[in-house]
Amino acid sequence: MAQTKILIVEDEEDVLELIRYNLEKNGYLTEAAMDGRVALEKVRSVSPDLILLDLMLPEVDGLEVCRSVKKEPKTAGIPVVMLTAKGTEADIVAGLEMGADDYVTKPFSPRVLMARVKAVLRRKDSETDTDTRVIRVHNVEIDPGRHRVLIGGEAVKLTSTEFNLLKFLASRPGWVFTRYQIVDAVHGADYPVTDRSVDVQVVGLRKKLGEAGKYIETVRGVGYRFQETI
Ligand code: CA
Repeated sequence: MAQTKILIVEDEEDVLELIRYNLEKNGYLTEAAMDGRVALEKVRSVSPDLILLDLMLPEVDGLEVCRSVKKEPKTAGIPVVMLTAKGTEADIVAGLEMGADDYVTKPFSPRVLMARVKAVLRRKDSETDTDTRVIRVHNVEIDPGRHRVLIGGEAVKLTSTEFNLLKFLASRPGWVFTRYQIVDAVHGADYPVTDRSVDVQVVGLRKKLGEAGKYIETVRGVGYRFQETI
């Protein structure tokens, strides 16, 4: 099996070396780019399996790199994990809506970064999951075929919008979705039409899920995520 190749896009040399060291220690091959222009060249020339992308870059900024990667059909499938500074929620939202797969806030621990990388690569492998598979996460079981939700074996009655919202979030535990992405993905009879109505739906859903409602986490300034099982 070919080794997984990761392109690190980072203009701070010490951060770049720290990331490279940890990736290689975990058995990944690495390529590096220190500005956005070189990053775009390397995406094409080395076809990485994943891109770690700093958003604050010289030449072409990270969001622009992300946009280019995701709009080009040949590279759109390459997962992108953004590296961002604290307080840049607007950039994180923009990046996620452009198709970035995840983000890690600086300063990060190498352990957290490796966990995110592994999770994103794992999701990429399971992307072929169909719309009808039964989702089991924590003590929650979602059966799209039967349109049924069980929590610890007990059935919970949800509206179709709540059901679709839960299914959407729980289908990718640990993955943060913006309100816009949720509005875009969730269709139901009482379809939320604005990003604020997503908040209202989440409040209602959490209440019906009871104790399990805590698994739907608010990611401040960004959106919502279903808690990953560790
Ligand atoms: Ca930077």
